[in-house]
Amino acid sequence: MPFKCGYVTVIGRPNSGKSTLVNALVGRKVAIVSPKPQTTRLRIQGIVNRENAQIVLTDTPGIHKPASALNQQMMEEVQQSLDGVDILALVADASVDFGAGDRYALDWVRRFHGKSFLILNKIDLFRDKRKLLPRIEIYSRDHTFTEIFPVSALTGNGMPALEKSLIEHLPEGVPFFPQDQFTDQPERFLAAELVREKAILKTREELPHAIAVLVDTYEETEKLLHIRATIYVEREGQKGIVIGKGGLMLKQIGTEARLELESMLGAKIFLELYVKVLPNWRDNPAIVRQLDWHRQLEQLSEER
Ligand code: GDP
Ligand code: MG
Repeated sequence: MPFKCGYVTVIGRPNSGKSTLVNALVGRKVAIVSPKPQTTRLRIQGIVNRENAQIVLTDTPGIHKPASALNQQMMEEVQQSLDGVDILALVADASVDFGAGDRYALDWVRRFHGKSFLILNKIDLFRDKRKLLPRIEIYSRDHTFTEIFPVSALTGNGMPALEKSLIEHLPEGVPFFPQDQFTDQPERFLAAELVREKAILKTREELPHAIAVLVDTYEETEKLLHIRATIYVEREGQKGIVIGKGGLMLKQIGTEARLELESMLGAKIFLELYVKVLPNWRDNPAIVRQLDWHRQLEQLSEER
């Protein structure tokens, strides 16, 4: 069987179950920080790895804006943000009536030139599946979807069929990301990069590229985003530089990275930094693989 790999962008009204669906496909909870509209890579949410396929799932914030606020400029940006996307998946809460928000979301799909899926979610909330038909009719009046799937992202009902079909409709290709990783999202990448940037900036002369930063844990709680990251250096002396007198340098690096991240992500952040000596970390497969993923991500977003 050929390997399938591609991008699936998930859109829909708030509360339609997009996050639940993404988590269900990925197979674990992907921490989600409501991202301000930023670059393409900031929207990557999760990567689904299967033996014969890799699905890169992307969320699209801001789909709930009223149609009246829509101007030409915005539509062009929408169009651009959908460049390179293989499948656009519209998630709708089938348990509530079709409304203006659904109409607006549907307009996005109609402007998309690739394959489109209609995912009617929350079917666990009603017994009579015949209720779905009028709903499908409304959508089909204005757009011909490539596939239509009734599912429950919560119970998992219909999800295997959806996943199978998504994979079938993806193009053949090599995986964009290492397959043993990454159920991840770019805020995490951004956090690591920001810490690295501040560390290099503040310690300039002393340690140019001898450092790598990896995020160990990335947890979203009610009140804040808890990030634990490790700065890897190659020698004991470099560790001393990064930590600084009385820990002052590390504290400054952390504060600057945290402030910038907070303003970029619009979330309160608790950033915990550790420094570890790992001689020749460049030869360490586990680290290089993750850094490699970073590079791939950068390349991908440049291409798009
Ligand atoms: P999003 O705003 O589109 O990302 O929606 P969420 O994934 O955050 O889900 C919104 C609410 O709908 C949450 O309370 C979910 O638990 C619930 N939900 C999502 N999918 C389903 C489903 O299939 N069935 C039911 N009953 N609830 C669901
Ligand atoms: Mg969500």
